Amino acid sequence: MSIPLVFHPIYSQLDLPERHRFPIQKYQGIREALRAKGIPNASFYAPTPISRNVLDTYFDKQYVHDLISGELNPKAMRRIGFPWSKQLIDRSLTAVFGTTLTAQLALEHGKALNLTGGYHHAFADFGSGFCLFNDLYLAAKAMQEDARVDNVMIIDLDVHQGDGTAKLCENDRTIFTLSIHGEKNFPHRKQVSDIDIGLPKGAGDEEYLQALEEALSVAFKMFSPDAIIYDAGVDVHQNDDLGLLNITTEGVYQRDCMVFEVAESKGLPIAGVIGGGYQRDIDALVNVHLQLYRAAGVY
Ligand SMILES: [Zn+2]
Repeated sequence: MSIPLVFHPIYSQLDLPERHRFPIQKYQGIREALRAKGIPNASFYAPTPISRNVLDTYFDKQYVHDLISGELNPKAMRRIGFPWSKQLIDRSLTAVFGTTLTAQLALEHGKALNLTGGYHHAFADFGSGFCLFNDLYLAAKAMQEDARVDNVMIIDLDVHQGDGTAKLCENDRTIFTLSIHGEKNFPHRKQVSDIDIGLPKGAGDEEYLQALEEALSVAFKMFSPDAIIYDAGVDVHQNDDLGLLNITTEGVYQRDCMVFEVAESKGLPIAGVIGGGYQRDIDALVNVHLQLYRAAGVY
């Protein structure tokens, strides 16, 4: 039984100003790399846009309205980091639902992976750092609609703290948030996750993997999840343009293996998203993102 993968060509369809730092081509690049590895088309599921009703239920209605209609003020738009366009909204609504679909498929199949996702800087009433709507939070809520799931753990290993997720889940005892990130990386003002580990600039594989092992051990003593959502950001990589850590490609692979192993050992379904990654060399970047699929056993 192959592992379900979630992808839509719209993930990479966004016209950005020249020299914009966001590597929008990487999603299509991952899709093509997986095709080249022989993953059949039947493994791929295409998401639809998320419904407005779901956004209105969990986020601030005014923010949802203003952003979708293009009426968000310029300062709030700059904080997101993309110029407004209809294309941006269409792309984001589909990408965000991609993570919900991945979460649903994970409950059905044990494991599922989105080829985008990890919009962890989005709060209920504002977006930030290339994130419009928080897909991780919505996916956790979608999992909880299943009778088998009460408690969800969000493991966020992107180099940036999952500040939006932490804030959205602050008063929600059914969602546990674990963030391991670069202490000196954005956001400068951190929120409070259930567990936060801020690593120093330049931290390498050994320090990183040890911190993860310890954090997972503590997390599972504090909380008993019924399902896991995993943000596998690769901006921890040594060649990343934004991340301040020094993790090798092999270190990323071992990290991802550790997360899948803990899920497997506890018999928990796990939904993975790719998170951040900002190398300008798209092929090199895709190769680091591929470690998630390799660790999951996709190929
Ligand atoms: Zn990041």
